[in-house]
Amino acid sequence: MDASISHPSRLLDDAASLMRISPKPDIIFAKGQGDWLFDTRGRKYLDWVQGWAVNCLGHSHPNLVAAIQLQAPLLLNCSPGYYNIPMIGLARKLAELSFADQVFFANSGAEANEGAVKLARKWGMLHRGGAHEIITFSDGFHGRTLSMMAASGKPEWTALFEPKTPGFQKAIYNDIDSVRAQVNERTVGIMLELVQGEGGVIAAEPAFVRALRGLCDEKNLLLIVDEVQTGIGRTGTFFSYQQHAIVPDIMTLGKGLGGGVPIAALLARQEVCCFEPGDQGGTYNGNALVTAAASAVVDVVGNPDFLESVRKKSDYFLRRLEQINQRYRHKQVRGRGLLLAIELATPNAKQVVEHALSLGFLINAPRNNVLRFMPALTIEYDAIDHGISLLHDLMQGAAA
Ligand SMILES: *Cc1c(COP(=O)(O)O)cnc(C)c1O
Repeated sequence: MDASISHPSRLLDDAASLMRISPKPDIIFAKGQGDWLFDTRGRKYLDWVQGWAVNCLGHSHPNLVAAIQLQAPLLLNCSPGYYNIPMIGLARKLAELSFADQVFFANSGAEANEGAVKLARKWGMLHRGGAHEIITFSDGFHGRTLSMMAASGKPEWTALFEPKTPGFQKAIYNDIDSVRAQVNERTVGIMLELVQGEGGVIAAEPAFVRALRGLCDEKNLLLIVDEVQTGIGRTGTFFSYQQHAIVPDIMTLGKGLGGGVPIAALLARQEVCCFEPGDQGGTYNGNALVTAAASAVVDVVGNPDFLESVRKKSDYFLRRLEQINQRYRHKQVRGRGLLLAIELATPNAKQVVEHALSLGFLINAPRNNVLRFMPALTIEYDAIDHGISLLHDLMQGAAA
């Protein structure tokens, strides 16, 4: 055993060497298995955060581990300046599963979204006389690079790291008139999440999404869907747009795509794929190790039986959450697939999250009145029941 693991308190002292970018509890995780995490003291936690909706197959799924173990000794990386075998295979699979004709791999959701904006601006330069503005939404989230902070609609970010990248106009989610009001001759596209995850698990209404598609067709704009959180089975279909009667022009993926390893992707229809050599790239893009891992994830999640099981678990989970909602008189249960939330009657979600941790239960509060649940898509029914009973304990504790 690693000597430092037997001295977790010394390890915590050493953690001062990390830049403080989020308040972290005094826990150090050492191991994960399926729905469960284990800390250096051997304590067990039910994990409904799963790396922030990343570990779609739970912790260390055997297929994912095997794919990494098979690929690692063969080839890790030969630069995106050359082809490798898993890179080509993964691109082909994603194109077959989606509307898209071509794929560009990136390392994070923000980077994929940066690529989407660059692609749209290039297309605007070629086909729309230099139109470059992109309409995005209040409370939207697209990542933490400077431009994606500008594209996002997080109120807390308005005054941070000025000046912001120009070219992003904000409209109101689920309000088509607010979008129409922002369109002008410089507008090249509309970018949105089909469920706003960080914004509090708010789903786009089908009529709104159809109206956006209609508006894009009418004004020759690109519809860009950020499926970094909603993609790869998270909402019960392989991609979330498949629940709407529309096809986007550009889509980005991240989080669940690698099931825990860092990989993201930008996908587009042929007519929009206008990058030329030199326009876009990145040192680690499409490296063999992560594309092999993502391929294993896509093979599991892309199976129709697997997606059907996600929808069944979602129905069950929603029913159990609805019982909690009614019993403790909370406001609402919402979400799609296994991206679910409960809106609390009182703004004490941060305290509930802390209390949950002390009970060995990881959940998240994207807003101070919202608890969000992003379990593994492979979650066991027993683990759903266990979490629901912990939620009962938490609600009873909060009410007392
Ligand atoms: C998490 C997230 C991102 C950013 O992804 P990173 O990998 O953290 O850069 C972008 N868009 C959405 C919808 C997300 O949920």
